[in-house]
Amino acid sequence: MKVPRAQLRSAIRALCADFGNDYWQAADRARSYPREFVDALTEAGYLACLVPEEYGGMGLGMTEASLILEEINRSGANSGACHAQMYTMGTLLRHGSDEQKRKFLPGIASGELRLQAFAVTEPDAGSDTTRIRTFARREGDRYIVNGQKVFISRVRQSDLMILLARTTPPAEGRKRTAGLSVFLVDLREAGDRIRVAPIDTMINHESCEIHFDDLEIPVANRIGEEGRGFRYIISGMNAERILLASESIGDGLHFIDRASDYASARRVFGREIGANQGVQFPIADAYMQIRAAAAVRDQAARAYDDGETRGEGPNMAKYLASRAAWKAANVAMDTFGGWGMASEYGIERKFREARLYMVAPVANNLILSHVATHVLGMPRSF
Ligand SMILES: Cc1cc2nc3c(=O)[nH]c(=O)nc-3n(C[C@H](O)[C@H](O)[C@H](O)COP(=O)(O)OP(=O)(O)OC[C@H]3O[C@@H](n4cnc5c(N)ncnc54)[C@H](O)[C@@H]3O)c2cc1C
Repeated sequence: MKVPRAQLRSAIRALCADFGNDYWQAADRARSYPREFVDALTEAGYLACLVPEEYGGMGLGMTEASLILEEINRSGANSGACHAQMYTMGTLLRHGSDEQKRKFLPGIASGELRLQAFAVTEPDAGSDTTRIRTFARREGDRYIVNGQKVFISRVRQSDLMILLARTTPPAEGRKRTAGLSVFLVDLREAGDRIRVAPIDTMINHESCEIHFDDLEIPVANRIGEEGRGFRYIISGMNAERILLASESIGDGLHFIDRASDYASARRVFGREIGANQGVQFPIADAYMQIRAAAAVRDQAARAYDDGETRGEGPNMAKYLASRAAWKAANVAMDTFGGWGMASEYGIERKFREARLYMVAPVANNLILSHVATHVLGMPRSF
């Protein structure tokens, strides 16, 4: 499907206009899931934008998906409530069998099946994914899973979840990335074999701790070959990084829109505060940094759509965008003076939300390490 970009942008803006600052402030205060907003996006088909048309999706590319998330966040909304419905299915699409795709993708495209949980992080492994300990032991036509995950977002709003687990213990002389496998967990059938408890964080993000107690997964729900899961997960991370960079760019532009409007209207000492270079220059500087990050993101999205599989572009886009958004967040805070901290203005909420992308889905230090070693060829530090 071809959708002109300008048309897509204005359609997203129109949809988001029904969910203004009051809506998001109320959800943030109540720590409630913004269901009405997610339903509206689902009904309009945007969360299925990356699902091929043959499975009922819009069949758009990473470039258009990026634009959708950027516009959502630019409006002041928070895509974090549902962004994973867009890209988590990529693991299934790229590495699943035809039968798995036929079984699950149409339901995911319509929104009937919510696949927006992605379980990788563990308390002891942290950023070193190869050290995860959640283990899936094969017994006939099933796997029996035991272990623990942390910060698994939207698991309570999902029917399906992608899970990374060990299927072979780490062994001397073997690559640390070997022996990991990916599964599609049907949460509706899990019963008390999965215990979920929310983790209270500084943003309204529905992140949870999960314990697996002898969870049974049919072998038919393993994605791809046993032991090659790390490779499958990494391939999905490129899409995630480009898309979350887009959210940061949207956040950054939201801060710039708000700060420049406020600076042009607020009068102190008999003139608009934005007439002072000490106020306007930081806004202009932050804006240029967002535009620079957006250019790197655009390049990464185009390359992804053309089949690029290396992590360089997506990682750099995520790093630059998260930092540009964080800079803009601080500039907006300064511009609003004391009112930046008053929740009714929504700046402090977005400030908290924008901070997440400095650490998730991958900590920025790990991106520096990737660029230093994989792009520039310097010695590895770990
Ligand atoms: C709100 C939220 C939602 C999340 N959602 C999900 C989800 O849905 N699914 C999921 O699987 N995970 C999720 N995560 C987890 C997230 O991906 C991790 O928090 C992140 O990857 C960092 O891991 P960690 O918190 O264990 O930090 P650690 O790995 O303990 O790192 C702590 C600090 O040390 C630094 N550091 C570590 N090692 C090195 C090194 N070798 N060199 C330099 N610096 C280093 C890091 O940069 C970081 O600043 C979420 C996290 C949050 C906060």
